[in-house]
Amino acid sequence: MKELSDYIREINDFPKEGIQFKDITTLLQDPKGTELCLNTLLELLDGEKIDKVVGMESRGFFFGTLLAQKLNAGFVPVRKKGKLPYTTINEVYALEYGTDTIEIHIDAIKKGERVLIHDDVLATGGTAKATCKLIERLGGEIVQCNFIMKLDFLNGEEKLSGYNVKSALSY
Ligand code: AMP
Repeated sequence: MKELSDYIREINDFPKEGIQFKDITTLLQDPKGTELCLNTLLELLDGEKIDKVVGMESRGFFFGTLLAQKLNAGFVPVRKKGKLPYTTINEVYALEYGTDTIEIHIDAIKKGERVLIHDDVLATGGTAKATCKLIERLGGEIVQCNFIMKLDFLNGEEKLSGYNVKSALSY
């Protein structure tokens, strides 16, 4: 039987030299792989009640939406600056060179709502940390940050210390 890691394609030197890109399009192409991934992510949550699943642009949208549907929760996209049409709040975070800005709609999370954060890959943790800040500014309670994969050599989990971080696979 195929394992979850078998569905993920690794591409060397994309988008630049030295990066090994974890490609989930091969996982998404396969309904068995997608089901396996979704069930694994749900198991990591261990039955916690969730009001909103927040997915990060753009690969966090795929399983974020599927998770929300399974959990009978709403889905909320966090997007790069300038993409969301309604009133937003934003967070600026550091990249290797320069900064990036992500946004969330101001009415996307209500005070006290229980939130699951989801993305495909936890790398340095910058995106996830900024997402946590956005949710907390809106009064949401972060139940778990959940990823398909985490890249341990980039220490993203350290940046998320204090949060419940779970990942289906570790590299
Ligand atoms: P970071 O903020 O450094 O944790 O980066 C997380 C974001 O970058 C996620 O949205 C990932 O989709 C993407 N990402 C970072 N590294 C990789 C990688 N090696 N393969 C695929 N996606 C990656």
